[in-house]
Amino acid sequence: MGNIQLMSTSLANQIAAGEVVVRPASCVKELIENSLDAGAKHITVSLREGGIAELVVQDDGVGMDESDATLAFARHATSKVYDEHDLTRIRTLGFRGEALASIAAVSRVTLTTRTRTSEYGVLVRVEGGEMAPVEHVGATYGTRIEVTDLFYNTPARLKYLRTVQTEQAKSVEVVQKAALSRPDVAFTCQTEHHVLFQTPGNGDIRAVLASLYGVGEAKQLLEVNETTPDYKVTGLVGRPTQGRTSRSGAHLFVNGRPVRNLAIHQAVIQGYKNRLMIGKQPIYSISLEMDPTLVDVNVHPHKAEVRFSEEADVCRTVARAVAKALDDTLLAPTPQRTTARQVTEVQPLALDYNPAQHEAGAPERADGSAAAGAAGGARHTGGHAPAGRPSYPAGARAKQPALRELGAMYASSPSEGVSQPDAHAGAARDVVSGDSMETADADIGMDISPQARKQNWHLRPIGQALGMYVLADDGESLYIIDQHAAHERILFEDFYQRLASGQVHAMPLLAPIQLTLPPTTYTRVTKMAEQLAELGLTVEPFGGYDVMIRTVPDVWEGLDVHALAEATIEALPNSDLARDDFFQTMYDVVATRACKAAVKANWHLSQEELEALCRALTKADDPFHCPHGRPVFLQWTGKQLEKEFKRIV
Ligand code: ADP
Ligand code: MG
Repeated sequence: MGNIQLMSTSLANQIAAGEVVVRPASCVKELIENSLDAGAKHITVSLREGGIAELVVQDDGVGMDESDATLAFARHATSKVYDEHDLTRIRTLGFRGEALASIAAVSRVTLTTRTRTSEYGVLVRVEGGEMAPVEHVGATYGTRIEVTDLFYNTPARLKYLRTVQTEQAKSVEVVQKAALSRPDVAFTCQTEHHVLFQTPGNGDIRAVLASLYGVGEAKQLLEVNETTPDYKVTGLVGRPTQGRTSRSGAHLFVNGRPVRNLAIHQAVIQGYKNRLMIGKQPIYSISLEMDPTLVDVNVHPHKAEVRFSEEADVCRTVARAVAKALDDTLLAPTPQRTTARQVTEVQPLALDYNPAQHEAGAPERADGSAAAGAAGGARHTGGHAPAGRPSYPAGARAKQPALRELGAMYASSPSEGVSQPDAHAGAARDVVSGDSMETADADIGMDISPQARKQNWHLRPIGQALGMYVLADDGESLYIIDQHAAHERILFEDFYQRLASGQVHAMPLLAPIQLTLPPTTYTRVTKMAEQLAELGLTVEPFGGYDVMIRTVPDVWEGLDVHALAEATIEALPNSDLARDDFFQTMYDVVATRACKAAVKANWHLSQEELEALCRALTKADDPFHCPHGRPVFLQWTGKQLEKEFKRIV
């Protein structure tokens, strides 16, 4: 007699549940998805002991009639997919018909549901996969599912659960993502002790973020909005200053489904164009809509990942959308906006700025002790906080780049080559002037639209302070400018504009560089040879997997071209490469170049040089941030100062 037997349904369900139900949060996720699929407008999630003891999801969706309510627990029972064809155009969140069966296999479930047309509710109890007789009960419209004692019959899995706090946090995150994906639905998330958060369900994504992170954080976020024939990108992104140390503030939705996708996360970062502080992750809630045939949602057991048929395309669109949002609304990092009331309570000039902290990642010492490696598009490697007061070492001046020439360059070519698409000009102004989030203290601190500023901004240098700052005023505000950051930004934009407008020339190398590449890199480089040549980098095959580099971009002059060439080649993206992607690669390289060439702390600047620096800064595309994302200046408006000095209240 053979040994093989068919499993019982309940055992099969229990095994299958291992994939779907890992912890309370996975139940919460599946149940919320069902509620949303049922058209709910209000969803309440209640957790007891982090959801381990009990979790309840209640909705006001369409509900189920008696036969559906019992069938819902059968494996592969779904009202959402009828044939294979449906699988390629899924618009509902659920489609596998296994969530309820799986949850019921490893817990005690009570389902209470009532449709709009039914006079009574239906109550179904399932324990360890066994269903008790159906009862008719009084109930409100919609569906309520209570899951108690999760994993009571699978002790091995129970053991893998973490602490109540951790499990609760994971469930709450699921509810948060759901709330962000559907601002039109009112979510309430509560524990046995209190309500954790509640969203209004008025369709406003900013209102959802305000419920999750607080009004202060939410009102800073910038709107993203980009539509191409294939994709629609909407949502909010944080300003560069709103970065976090973890990815916890990053939320991505594809056709309404919360998903993780590293490529898109990187595309968002790319959209910041190095404005983000190094080591910081952006916060955002971005929603992507596309034809369901362009994305496969059936690649992950928890549907937490998706696969795009044209990933590079999607990424490019996202990066562009984010870049536009940031470019349109760059605002000066003003000191903390103190209200009159706060001023009386805290010490005067309580500024949200800590010089020591700033120095830690900032200008290199004049002695070059923190010289950043040029290789690998290496970024600022962080520095040494100067010990004690800065002085003016005599030897430093000799190495100083010619700021005078820089001034002449900008003076003779007013704003030419510093292009900014006119299409956004109006929008940028609107966003600034119509900023509904500015409240009582709106008059403190001046938001300058890049456009308004560019036409008519005269910065008059007052002098140099502490060896590394330039004081300036423009008739309306007083500025403290970080001289290194400012110069870095100016050089960077010059290089970048030349790069972008094809004004980078090939600089022949006296001694060509021979490199032996790994086969995959070799293929990439030879495929890209033409684009590389356009940017001044001539790479020729030289037998085997060897290449010969004969020219490099002239903006690399004076740098370790060997290391830069190697780094650039290594950084080439492996997907089919568009110009934009290549720019990103070059961006890092150029940022490093600018940083190394810029004036350092402790370099004395003459009056002429100060003027050149200020003039060039007013012409910069983004005068607010250095290429590494640090602020270039702090600004106080006259009004703000008057308030600080108690001339006005
Ligand atoms: P799926 O969501 O993949 O279809 P589930 O096991 O999650 O599978 O649910 C099975 C079926 O039960 C769903 O297709 C739906 O018809 C019904 N259902 C589940 N939850 C709800 C709910 N909250 N409101 C109305 N119907 C529901
Ligand atoms: Mg489902």
